[in-house]
Amino acid sequence: MKLLCHNKACSSYNSWLEIINKGFYFRSSDSHWVKRWCCKACGKNFSTATENPARWQKKRRINPQLVKLLSSNNSMRRSALLLNVDRKTVARRLPFLADLARRSQMKFLKDHQQLIHTVEFDDLETLEHTKCKPISVALAVEHKSRKILGFSVSSMPSKGLLAKSSREKYGFRIDQRPMGWELLFSSLQSLVVPNAEFRSDSNPHYTQYVKRYFPNSSHIKIEGKRGAVTGQGELKKVGFDPLFSINHTFAMLRANICRLIRKTWCTTKKLEALSDHIAIYVNFHNQVLLKNH
Ligand SMILES: [Zn+2]
Repeated sequence: MKLLCHNKACSSYNSWLEIINKGFYFRSSDSHWVKRWCCKACGKNFSTATENPARWQKKRRINPQLVKLLSSNNSMRRSALLLNVDRKTVARRLPFLADLARRSQMKFLKDHQQLIHTVEFDDLETLEHTKCKPISVALAVEHKSRKILGFSVSSMPSKGLLAKSSREKYGFRIDQRPMGWELLFSSLQSLVVPNAEFRSDSNPHYTQYVKRYFPNSSHIKIEGKRGAVTGQGELKKVGFDPLFSINHTFAMLRANICRLIRKTWCTTKKLEALSDHIAIYVNFHNQVLLKNH
């Protein structure tokens, strides 16, 4: 297959008429022979690698493995050890892989536009380095398939006994949760039908967002249940849980993203890194884990 000329200044831009073969070159970063072409009109060489998102990466061979490791309860440190690369390589690759995952997820969800009828949503609490800096992850799943439809990560002030000492030590912490819920619900508008059914626990904050973004929908609130020992407290100790899909998804997140495990020593140091890590997992969850069921 011939590629088109990518040079916008070229007289035969986007045409293959002037394109000739220019042999192959060996890419040592993943031991591949890459075919190359040349445009006779502008004299530029190019190949399938020119527009590849992993261009210039010396360790591109780790990318698919790294996605699997990070989505299977491995820390960044352990992933680096298993892949035989430096920790900094893994840290630098996290935003890159998250960007790819977000794009892939957007494409994946496009096939479900205006097809979702029942949504379960809730928040999961975790922390940033210390218990004094809690983080909230808002997440929405489709009731039937357990597909993750979206998430947002927000900082929140600590509650209860820790609230005072947290303020003394780290100062005032902004509550980003209202913005996180806005983001999540606005992203759901393209996927979910206007008269959908939303299910959540009885958190009083949720109603306004459902009403604002889906005025014709119905919102069913379910009283919280006691957590079971299995499933990191997310799975409930009842025979039938109406919020099973969201609780099961949270249990999977906690089991597969090492920094979300309760009482872990593997904590998040930066909010963005947690968001990137979840984005990588979400894409893996929807496109690999759920398909293999
Ligand atoms: Zn050209």
